[in-house]
Amino acid sequence: MSKANDPSLRSWVEVAPDSDFPIQNLPFGIGARPGDSPRPLVAIGDKALDLAALQHAGLLDVPGLRADVLHMPRLNEFIALGKAVTGAVRERLSELLRHDNAELRDNDLCNTALLEQKNLTMQMPVRVGDYTDFYSSIDHATNVGTMFRDPDNALLPNWKHLPVGYHGRASSIVVSGAEIHRPTGQQLPAGAETPVFGPSKLFDFELEVAFVTGKATALGERVSVAQAEDHIFGLVLFNDLSARDIQKWEYVPLGPFLAKNFGSVISPWIVTLEALEPFRTEGYTQDPPVLPYLRYDGKMNYDLKLEVDLVLPDGQSKTVCQSNFKYMYWNMCQQLAHQTVNGCNINVGDLYASGTISGPEASSFGSMLELSWRGTKPIPMPDGSERKFVNDGDQIVMRGWGAGEGYRVGFGESRCTVLPAREL
Ligand code: MN
Repeated sequence: MSKANDPSLRSWVEVAPDSDFPIQNLPFGIGARPGDSPRPLVAIGDKALDLAALQHAGLLDVPGLRADVLHMPRLNEFIALGKAVTGAVRERLSELLRHDNAELRDNDLCNTALLEQKNLTMQMPVRVGDYTDFYSSIDHATNVGTMFRDPDNALLPNWKHLPVGYHGRASSIVVSGAEIHRPTGQQLPAGAETPVFGPSKLFDFELEVAFVTGKATALGERVSVAQAEDHIFGLVLFNDLSARDIQKWEYVPLGPFLAKNFGSVISPWIVTLEALEPFRTEGYTQDPPVLPYLRYDGKMNYDLKLEVDLVLPDGQSKTVCQSNFKYMYWNMCQQLAHQTVNGCNINVGDLYASGTISGPEASSFGSMLELSWRGTKPIPMPDGSERKFVNDGDQIVMRGWGAGEGYRVGFGESRCTVLPAREL
């Protein structure tokens, strides 16, 4: 395991015990100070390091690290340098931030290179070229199949043989802090034969984790399950906002469209696969056995706790869901192997979302659709109101982290505010 993952490491930068960003994490993001241009940063505690400033001062002398990529407004070119380089940058930053290393700690450079996160405007960490959304949580797929089809036969015949997915819209993926208007569109009211047009009444979130690819392939190439991790740079939280009434009417026979493409919200920091190494765990047993190209060895799932809060307009909040990334039936390596088995190319900065991550318990369901069981079990809120879906003015906040001994490796948050539908 990487030296940077040593649980005993401590930083001279003060890090609160419940911070997502201890020295064992060091995730990469893009942020801007007021009046300044956006640039690559690394989070540590409630601060962030300006990588260009460190390199300019001679403190980030990593073989293969080009200076130009540290001045770019997205991380694609940095990530494209490859894991040998980005991993070495993480190792070097870990050294610089160790409590017993004075190189940066006692250097005036701290005044300009160590920024307060609260003063930064975080931006999309990558230009997302292509976006895939999978449907890989068995508890979620079973819940949806039970609600809308046959409780005794909830999973469709293909589900345990391949990671079902679809290609979505990349340019409507936005970073945490977004304000998203309730979408307007066609819906078929219960019992009606013709559709109506208006604001969606069933506005929902989907709790997901997405991986960012860091190594491209050419059209026609395949990535095996064993090679897949080499192509995965890191992970973010992903809120796949969904309009359930629009979805139900439009999705036959080609799948999600306007119910999904009005905005999806990611957390700003990309947590590297290296930093998540300590949280590997077993997945569900896959039965029936999968085809040879989807077989895998070892621990390919990750024990990452996931939570969703609804924050009411008056500021009161309620944690409505507690789930875990370990509940994925299909792991990320299988997803990437499946997506490329036909020769589909991948690019640096693509996003591959997991699909809604539900666990076996009712409290771990990853969408309001499941939590309120299609609106039949309203969720009481602290102000005396209740929610079947998400209301205008509500904020949706997602968090996620791996729990280490005395520290946690986390994502920060994916937060968005739901605004009323726009007037036409
Ligand atoms: Mn989804």
